Amino acid sequence: MQGKNMPGVNGGGPMWSELPNREPPESPSHNSEDDGFMLGHRDSRMESLDYEVVESVAYREDQAQRRIWHHASYITLKWIFALLIGIGTGLAAFFINIAVENFSGWKFAATFALMEYHFFLGLVVYIAFNAALVFSSALIVTQFAPAAAGSGIPEIKAYLNGIDTPGILLFRTLIGKVLGSIGSVGGGLALGKEGPLVHTGACIASVLGQGGSTKYHVNWRWLRRFKNDRDRRDLVTCGCAAGVAAAFRSPVGGVLFALEEVTSWWRSQLLWRVFFTSAVVAVVVRTAMGWCKNGNCGHFSSGGFIIWDISGGQDDYSFFELLPMAMLGAIGGLLGALFNQLTVWISSWRRNVLHRKGNRVKIIEVLLVSLITSMLSFGLPMMTSCKQCPDPVKYPGVVCPRPSGSYGNYVNFFCSNENQYNDLATIFFNTQDDAIRNLFSTNTPHEYTTRSLLTFLVMFFSLAVLTYGTAVPSGQFVPGIMIGATYGRLVGILVVNSSSKDSVDEGTYALLGAASFLGGSMRMTVSLCVIMVEITNNLQLLPLIMLVLLISKAVGDAFNNGFYEEQVKLRSLPLLESRPQRFMRNLAAKDAISRRKVVQFSRVTKVGHIVAVLRSTNHNGFPVVEKLQTGEPVVIGLILRSYLLVLLQAKSDFQQNPAPEDARGRMNHRYDVTDFTKPVSSKGLSIYEIDISPVEMEMYIDLQPFVNPAPYMVPEDMSLTKVHYLFRQLGLRHICVVPRPSQVVGVITRKDLLPEVLEERESLEEIMSSRG
Ligand code: ATP
Ligand code: MG
Repeated sequence: MQGKNMPGVNGGGPMWSELPNREPPESPSHNSEDDGFMLGHRDSRMESLDYEVVESVAYREDQAQRRIWHHASYITLKWIFALLIGIGTGLAAFFINIAVENFSGWKFAATFALMEYHFFLGLVVYIAFNAALVFSSALIVTQFAPAAAGSGIPEIKAYLNGIDTPGILLFRTLIGKVLGSIGSVGGGLALGKEGPLVHTGACIASVLGQGGSTKYHVNWRWLRRFKNDRDRRDLVTCGCAAGVAAAFRSPVGGVLFALEEVTSWWRSQLLWRVFFTSAVVAVVVRTAMGWCKNGNCGHFSSGGFIIWDISGGQDDYSFFELLPMAMLGAIGGLLGALFNQLTVWISSWRRNVLHRKGNRVKIIEVLLVSLITSMLSFGLPMMTSCKQCPDPVKYPGVVCPRPSGSYGNYVNFFCSNENQYNDLATIFFNTQDDAIRNLFSTNTPHEYTTRSLLTFLVMFFSLAVLTYGTAVPSGQFVPGIMIGATYGRLVGILVVNSSSKDSVDEGTYALLGAASFLGGSMRMTVSLCVIMVEITNNLQLLPLIMLVLLISKAVGDAFNNGFYEEQVKLRSLPLLESRPQRFMRNLAAKDAISRRKVVQFSRVTKVGHIVAVLRSTNHNGFPVVEKLQTGEPVVIGLILRSYLLVLLQAKSDFQQNPAPEDARGRMNHRYDVTDFTKPVSSKGLSIYEIDISPVEMEMYIDLQPFVNPAPYMVPEDMSLTKVHYLFRQLGLRHICVVPRPSQVVGVITRKDLLPEVLEERESLEEIMSSRG
């Protein structure tokens, strides 16, 4: 009998023999791309993730087999993962910090030692040291882990929005990110290690969740229960929070950062686990720092782990000070928006022109940026005249000049007079963490001249813009804090000069300036506020930080999107924003669907037809229809491409002839739900990898046990705004658009879902027992 003549067989789509047998598309080389991904919104390499639980017959049968301990072990494992992510990220952060501090320590020690002979020797060693570190970072990124370039936050943000960005969570990316950050930060570039740490945390989470790396043959099969997009999303969220918690030693800030900035969906159960992970990070970091007491870790001291304690600063403020503080917010908004715009322009030129020329050009570019940075940070302080140390009687706590070899305020950098210091060297010729500490330092009035601060501001702003987007791991937090702290201190000088009160402190303005720039560029509010409070240990400034952040965000928003949103756009990542565009209100679901015929399957379909369809389209979801006895077709569900591929590979459900009506719906093979989940980062099975003989092509398969029997369906007239909200809030991948239904069988209200109301339903027990 011809399959196409049978009810419910092969109907709905073109015959498989009629479909073109496409050549396999060029296999996407996940790791050979540019540091960002030059992809369009529809690029097939950027598939969406499946967060929906497919409650197919196969799934329900699998669940029925499970005992209570199975569920308990699943929950326990989730918590163990949260613990391991915390430990892993804390240790990674510790390792990066130790390495950066030691490399910087050796660099400065060698430079200072050689400067005793001749300053030029010192300069050469300084440039060479920086170039070597930066070169190693660029080499790792270009040759080994291209996805480790940049901060990684835009890609992780996209991942948690439902887009599988290629290569972003691989083991090699993790290694590249850790080693690359050490080189780029240790090499003195105008970038930070905090953004990369978020990415590092996410990679650790994902690698743990998939039980190691398939590529490197470290894989535990029993962990495959976590190899689905939904669980991986939760783990990655924990990883992001852990990254911030480790980077800033700010556990609550980490949780809020994950909630406010990177995730698109949030569940209350997740909040607990994320909080737990951040707390673990805090403990690990603290413990690890204990190991390094008494110089056990070389140049590493507690200073390497950010906590810019400014608790000695201003503890009160007068009403008139609110005006300059609000002004700081406005400056932060303007400069932040300018920073975002400039980085977008430069990055897009890089992607479209410069980086297309190959890896060699990328490495040369980074080396040039390193050379410029080294020359400026060494040369500019040399051109600045020295300042007289503050009066030790008036400021008894101040050590000036600081003895060579210790890096803090008031360094004597080539000053001929013993009682002098070089203020520009205090910020320029230092590690970034120390520079920030110096800028935030309280009770050191008039430490910097306006000229030095202005010079630093202009130079560092330009360097930060120039450096972001080069082929090394780079974060934007620390450069942002440095830029903001500099103009904050400038405003502080103005206020101190015009105020008669002694309590006004320049260091406090530096902190508010830092908050304003971050707010103006990244446009976060709550998480930034908590991070700033946690890293400065000063709760009194909370209302002021809030004020400044709100103003800077509002001003920045008037010009452009936040830094990460702009970078997401630049990379053409198809991010679904939290709110639909205005014009969508006038559109309906039917206006958004493609005009092509729907590619669907009959319940019982020929294997050859499935193969032909999978080869000829890139679609990932196919409606499955069945013809009723009356001849009317009904949609029995939606089947995913990944399911079809697994079925084609297993072959155990192929049938010689379509089963008679009453024998349908049975599976020959008992599938484990995990059989249908794909490994990390879309490198799932491809139709071209499956070998099917001509005889098998003529066989049939009953799709009903494998379909998602209740895909989300919307009437064609539903407004597109509502459809957008459904996608965003439920984390959907497909919605079927259907005509208006002809009848309604009932209405559910919220109260119908209350357990006590449900229990009162007479028929409920019967139903429950009949369904096992
Ligand atoms: P994903 O991220 O899941 O890969 P995509 O946007 O790449 O999604 P495709 O599945 O490649 O989507 O589909 C491309 C277009 O075809 C979309 O506009 C969609 O409306 C449409 N489409 C998707 N599935 C089908 C189908 N089964 N039949 C007909 N058109 C479809
Ligand atoms: Mg696609």
